[in-house]
Amino acid sequence: MYSYLLLLPLLITLFPFTGLPWIMKRRSYLLKNEKYEIRVLKGHSQINAFSVRGLKRGYIFLTENTASLGENNVNAVIAHEIGHLEKGHHVKMALLVGSLISLSMFFLLNGMSWIAIPILLFTVLTQKTLTRKFELEADKYALKLVPSQDLANLISSYGDKKSTILSTHPDILTRLKNLNNN
Ligand SMILES: [Zn+2]
Repeated sequence: MYSYLLLLPLLITLFPFTGLPWIMKRRSYLLKNEKYEIRVLKGHSQINAFSVRGLKRGYIFLTENTASLGENNVNAVIAHEIGHLEKGHHVKMALLVGSLISLSMFFLLNGMSWIAIPILLFTVLTQKTLTRKFELEADKYALKLVPSQDLANLISSYGDKKSTILSTHPDILTRLKNLNNN
């Protein structure tokens, strides 16, 4: 009777590829149009950037402050985000999270919340762990596009100083070490 609730995981899975790019495009202006559309988000002061995988193409969004960090930094940020898109991180994450949430919903709807809740907790932890792994992969990919010194400078200046089990980013030292081990 509540089986329409099973549509929820599908919507959660599809939103990042459909609604999210649509919303973000409207809040930003075009900086460069290359293989991926590079756009600047209006009215955000923090230093931040992220990428979005649309159905037709990928987008990279920088906050206004990030876009004004100077050429070397901006190129390093963009190279890192290109890494996420080229490595298919958005699709991998959506498939994993979508299927785990579906599984959890299935148990919940069948009155087995004692299985559903651990699966949800597992989903959150897996998502965080995978995100940190993807950050290191994106940094590695970025080395193909920009000098490693530029990437190291960016990470040292703007990376997270500490990382915990719930962090989405590995700490600065882990990221710098990752750049140097081949
Ligand atoms: Zn990243």
